[in-house]
Amino acid sequence: MQVATGISVAEIRKQFPILHQEVNGKPLIYFDNAATSQTPQSVIDALVHYYQRDNANIHRGIHTLAERATTAFEATRKAAQGFINAREVEEIVFTKGTSEGINLVAQAYGRKLISEGDEIIITGMEHHSNIVPWQMLCQQTGAKLKVIPVAENGEIKLEDFEALLTEKTRFVSVVYISNSLGTVNPVEEIISKAHAVGAKVLIDAAQAAPHHPLDVQKLDCDFLALSGHKMYGPTGVGVLYGKREVLEAMDPYQGGGEMIRDVSFDGTTYNDIPYKFEAGTPNIADVVAFKAAIEFVEGIGYDFLHQHEMTLLERGKEKLYGIDGFQPIGTAENKASVISFLVDGVHPFDLGMWLDAKGIAVRTGHHCTQPLMDHFNIDGTVRASFAVYNTVEEIDTFAEALTEIVKKFRK
Ligand code: PMP
Repeated sequence: MQVATGISVAEIRKQFPILHQEVNGKPLIYFDNAATSQTPQSVIDALVHYYQRDNANIHRGIHTLAERATTAFEATRKAAQGFINAREVEEIVFTKGTSEGINLVAQAYGRKLISEGDEIIITGMEHHSNIVPWQMLCQQTGAKLKVIPVAENGEIKLEDFEALLTEKTRFVSVVYISNSLGTVNPVEEIISKAHAVGAKVLIDAAQAAPHHPLDVQKLDCDFLALSGHKMYGPTGVGVLYGKREVLEAMDPYQGGGEMIRDVSFDGTTYNDIPYKFEAGTPNIADVVAFKAAIEFVEGIGYDFLHQHEMTLLERGKEKLYGIDGFQPIGTAENKASVISFLVDGVHPFDLGMWLDAKGIAVRTGHHCTQPLMDHFNIDGTVRASFAVYNTVEEIDTFAEALTEIVKKFRK
């Protein structure tokens, strides 16, 4: 496939060494991108280069390697600022991923600024990472968790959200794109309606970052969390964005080196943002390599990403929906390149194992969204999630493999 920009999927694929292997005697087809996407050579090279040339602890050293490591680390912060269009570089906090970002906000914002009787709203399609931290906060503070219901097609209705908003709503934390269903939520409307009652808003952008341009100033969210490993970057690095004034009003999350200004046994004063939230030696190497992932996504651009992923999604619908007993789970109008499904009479784990035998990697299970699965009255689904290096030919092979497996089960 070739598009107007001159970028081709074949060229993109060449940048991903891991894709060029056989699994169980078949060419690997990797459709588990919503769990973790693969990394291009540029990210691998950045990681290797860092360990071969620059490895040192950051910020406090005056020797050359420490300066190089610090410069590379802070260059990623600058790149992340540009990537999500944050107003200031200090609004970028490095975490190990989306889960840590949300836990940081629930504890550092929530324990200070949310109290008994206050209300927190999430949706019924949240990942456990955007449920459990709020449940923990509610237990600690006596706040109440309210949930926007999910309709049969996997969408939420704005009227249902409005009905939950009260003068007690202090926080709204919603997923931008559902990992289980692919639903793209109307986050701009949610943010403005939440702000109208004075609530702060966090956007879980773990699945949005690889598919959708993020502009925190335009969105006007108070927080946004994402993970590097879902957007062609390394594991163990994530970004938490927070508006300066909100981050400054918060307590630190963890204590340790780097997050302090002065320590004595009589008391401690804290560092400025973002360092106030980065206790201890961070994951320097992966942060440094994450810059290459940002550059990879920016180099391709969201127009291409979107266009190609929609081609894959449409091909998937065309080829899969007709398979005997195929039941898509999540058919929202505005949907990312994720197809979650069941096949009547065949357990999702069996499908996953038979597909793996044919070299096709999909995810099976509840996808860390158990309440959503309960809502649909199912234990889990099979999920095929597509990335920029996937091809329509792979989807055709997948559909043929699935058809064959289902036939075998029907005998
Ligand atoms: N939210 C969503 C929507 C996700 O898909 C994930 C990862 N599956 C997370 C949060 C958690 O991300 P991480 O495991 O990188 O912390």
